[in-house]
Amino acid sequence: MSSAFTTETVLSVDHYTDRLFKFRITRPQTFRFRSGEFVMIGMAGEKKPLVRAYSVASPAWDEELEFFSIKVEDGPLTSKLQKIVPGDEVVLGKKPTGTLVLDALTPAKRLYMFSTGTGFAPFASLVREPETYEKFDEVIVTHTCRLGAELEYSSEVVGALPDDPLVGEDAPQKLRYVSSCTREDHPVQGRITQLIESGDLFERLGAPKLNPETDRVMICGSQAMIADTKALVEQHGLTEGSNAKPAEFVVEKAFVG
Ligand SMILES: Cc1cc2nc3c(=O)[nH]c(=O)nc-3n(C[C@H](O)[C@H](O)[C@H](O)COP(=O)(O)OP(=O)(O)OC[C@H]3O[C@@H](n4cnc5c(N)ncnc54)[C@H](O)[C@@H]3O)c2cc1C
Repeated sequence: MSSAFTTETVLSVDHYTDRLFKFRITRPQTFRFRSGEFVMIGMAGEKKPLVRAYSVASPAWDEELEFFSIKVEDGPLTSKLQKIVPGDEVVLGKKPTGTLVLDALTPAKRLYMFSTGTGFAPFASLVREPETYEKFDEVIVTHTCRLGAELEYSSEVVGALPDDPLVGEDAPQKLRYVSSCTREDHPVQGRITQLIESGDLFERLGAPKLNPETDRVMICGSQAMIADTKALVEQHGLTEGSNAKPAEFVVEKAFVG
């Protein structure tokens, strides 16, 4: 096998819907990453490993690694990956990277994390990261899906925060979770862009509209969701940042295509 990968063992698998599942794997001692980053992961192949980019959904301090995955029926990787069971082996890249990291944002009062679908994965890492609450007074994570059942993972992650060993005190005081559906009845309905544009999001939170003085934003979703949300965030005066040049918002695609 290529030396760019290590072989890891699947520890647990939980299926949420026919399109979504979570799995946890062993973490090599040498594997270091920043909460919010992604890494290549997949399965051994006959000649070379079949791998795809995946956000690490667990925080940097966790002894195991967690991933939140789509199941694409004809997907080269996920048609197979969705069948893994504890004890199976997966391959893990050695070089995590990404822009949805706290280091890429300048200091401010409030952090917004806007996600759709599996785009919640990097935020599942960041809401369990103590540094998130050290750097921000208020943290808002939004997750929008078509159906209510697709919100189960994010609601489970957020629901477990009060019992979390490291963020159990800060998260319940500082974090607000807003879930919305676009194709099913749900307490909050609509795309994140609609919730921002109408002001509904800010009314719910009792917060002022986005402001570069006080607010930072992370965005993770489809290419279209990113383009639309990014345009709105820019209209509010926020500037895009990166690892090399931290600024007021950062984006990352949840998938290509
Ligand atoms: C930076 C980055 C981070 C990523 N993180 C994750 C993650 O945390 N979890 C995850 O499940 N996937 C993630 N992906 C997508 C992932 O790399 C694969 O595309 C996915 O696992 C499907 O692989 P596949 O080989 O089965 O199908 P592919 O051939 O890769 O994809 C086939 C088609 O399925 C659709 N698709 C692929 N991934 C998704 C998705 N996540 N949600 C909705 N539709 C999708 C697209 O239309 C795509 O063209 C990420 C991609 C990038 C670029």
